[in-house]
Amino acid sequence: MIIAVASGKGGTGKTTLAVSLALSLPNVQLLDCDVEEPNAHLFLNPLFAEKSEAVIPVPVIDEEKCTFCGRCKEVCAFNALAVLPGAEGKKGSILFFENLCHGCGACRFLCPQQAITERDRRIGVVEAGTVGELKFAHGRLDIGEAMAPPLVRQLKKQIDQERTVIIDAPPGTSCPVVTSITEADFCLLVSEPTPFGLNDLILAVEVLRKLGIPFGVVLNRADLGDEKTDEYCRQEDITIMMRIPFDKRIAAAYSRGLPLVTAMPEYRQKFEELFQKIKDKISK
Ligand code: SF4
Ligand code: SF4
Repeated sequence: MIIAVASGKGGTGKTTLAVSLALSLPNVQLLDCDVEEPNAHLFLNPLFAEKSEAVIPVPVIDEEKCTFCGRCKEVCAFNALAVLPGAEGKKGSILFFENLCHGCGACRFLCPQQAITERDRRIGVVEAGTVGELKFAHGRLDIGEAMAPPLVRQLKKQIDQERTVIIDAPPGTSCPVVTSITEADFCLLVSEPTPFGLNDLILAVEVLRKLGIPFGVVLNRADLGDEKTDEYCRQEDITIMMRIPFDKRIAAAYSRGLPLVTAMPEYRQKFEELFQKIKDKISK
């Protein structure tokens, strides 16, 4: 079973929830897919046993074979190629903007002259290890690199189907989030009852409904803010699976890099109950 933990906005307590849920259950693998800013390891101090480079295939153009027909530029959905007209005896030239290239392979596949081959370009690393019985892996995007989705896909190759997999997704609703949560059996949306929290929750709900992934909401700092998130969930028939009240001890544990269930073991049972609710929802 794959459970994604996502949130429309950062700072809602998504990683706190993902880490504590992972520590409360047996036979779990936790993947931190927030590859631009992974931080679950700061709470877990895993022993990393494996490290692999993440690469994407980018085009290499043989200008001897190329007729500068422009087909590769037309098929590139990411504007990573420009074909310039010839001048001073040259038939033309091609500009390649490698930071825009998603490594989709369309240009190589559709070049009528077979003038395109590929080389690997590094975008980051995947590290995998353990924390006691817990399996853990995360991806780290290289500084200045923008290609989070291919790194998330490479990280997800680590998924161990024999375990309950918990995915800590990046915040927001953009491509890296969609790549992280696709294939999940259930998604927990972590939100807080504030106007900003509600706005971003609505966007996240739209994404999940489009993807057809069952989901429920966890309200963090549930006793602060207003009633509008509750009202919205009632109107939209969305289950609030768990409420975590504001508690200075949670903030203090976070600031010391302690998982919630380590600092407050009484929460372990609440996370076990949350897991049971997820299983009930999936079985329905
Ligand atoms: S599609 Fe092939 S032949 Fe046409 S411009 Fe691109 S590389 Fe050159
Ligand atoms: S591999 Fe895909 S994204 Fe990269 S240049 Fe070719 S068509 Fe564009």
